Amino acid sequence: MAYDVLRYYVGPPVMIASTTVLVQWLTLWGCDFTQEWSIYGNEYSWKVVGALLLWAYLSLIIPGKEYLGPTTPFGYTPRYKANGLQFFVVSLSAFCYLLYQRPFTALEITYNFTHILASCNVLAFILCIYLLLKGKMYPGSSEVVQSKPFIYEFYRGMEIHPRILGVDVKQLTNCRFGLLAWELLVVNFFVASWILNGFSWAHFVSAALQTIYLCKFYWWETGYFSTLDITLDRAGYYICWGCLVWVPSFYTYSSYYLVTHPSLVNNNAAWLIFVLGFLSILMNYRIDWEKQHFQNYKGKCRIWAKQARYIEATIKTATGTRKSKLLISGFWGCARHLNYVFEILAAIAWCLPGYGYGIWPMLYAYFLTVLLVHRVFRDEEKCSDKYGVYWTKYCQVVPYRLIPYIF
Ligand code: NDP
Repeated sequence: MAYDVLRYYVGPPVMIASTTVLVQWLTLWGCDFTQEWSIYGNEYSWKVVGALLLWAYLSLIIPGKEYLGPTTPFGYTPRYKANGLQFFVVSLSAFCYLLYQRPFTALEITYNFTHILASCNVLAFILCIYLLLKGKMYPGSSEVVQSKPFIYEFYRGMEIHPRILGVDVKQLTNCRFGLLAWELLVVNFFVASWILNGFSWAHFVSAALQTIYLCKFYWWETGYFSTLDITLDRAGYYICWGCLVWVPSFYTYSSYYLVTHPSLVNNNAAWLIFVLGFLSILMNYRIDWEKQHFQNYKGKCRIWAKQARYIEATIKTATGTRKSKLLISGFWGCARHLNYVFEILAAIAWCLPGYGYGIWPMLYAYFLTVLLVHRVFRDEEKCSDKYGVYWTKYCQVVPYRLIPYIF
């Protein structure tokens, strides 16, 4: 009973209030910027947010290859646009060209950052309210939505794969708005710092690592459609507000911080950081790739030069049962979530150029560690429900969660 009260009535409002206030606080006062702020943003910020949203939306409605995501237990197969890498390359090139041609400047965007976040916030709240009403009144698929307290429904979302104006909402908010905003802001803050403080290799390394990471994301975007964000999380405050506001603010925070606090890290250390970060990104990609490759070939493939080994499972669906496989070769035979470890190491690497300024520039790395450790348990709960005894068997064969022989 007490757990239910906490989960349904206390947790959601506390999370909503604290995250909304935190992003504005950090960017307003957290790094000595004295910026003006209004709860709605300003004309400039609405132009920026409107342009980004329109661009993101256009990328999903132009004709092109489609990708079918994993079918839900209720038999719904979501459709996505498979043009992630092209979208990333064109967007980044256009942004760099515009920064060079100066119809707007990196400093303008930096000085209006809190307004931009305020506009993102308004947009995200409107969207989440709409998603709640849509999920309650006319859900788009046969996905069963159990009635829960209103604030919980708003926070966790109602539908798994809602579509608006012909596009998948989570592909729009997560892939095309949130992650693109992350990339463009990181480049923007690097240029702003260059203008204000001179060129810094350490800041360059931080921006370069995040660019490589995000390029890798867009290269692998179709793989993202099989992850927890898409298959487990319903479209609501947690995931949609998260991608529209939290990602552009919190994920870019160490880069933003370096604009007013020039990096103290010397060039040799910067290149060491680059090597650490680059290898971590490669490893994270390789581990995700092994699972995707294994799933694409339905187990008939080679991993680490040997025939892939797996546990064959029978899982229940809404219409009966079906076969599935759990990989136990390669990195998926070393630990159940080794990909998260390299994700955290990569994040530490691109925050490290802020070394010497206390916890602030490292906030993203700390947050990500908490998020991913929590996610390990969320994923295991999901897999245990889905695979039952086969998951227990997998955990016996691969006993470590994150780091072999440690945890
Ligand atoms: P995983 O890629 O670890 O996927 C977990 C899912 O994969 C499980 O739910 C299960 O789903 C399937 N699975 C698990 N073990 C096996 C196995 N042995 N064989 C076959 N299938 C298996 O997790 P995420 O979706 O959380 O993460 C994807 C990527 O995104 C990672 O690189 C992660 O680091 C990154 N990420 C980044 C975040 C950020 O904020 N920067 C946040 C979260 C993730 P099923 O059986 O249904 O297929």
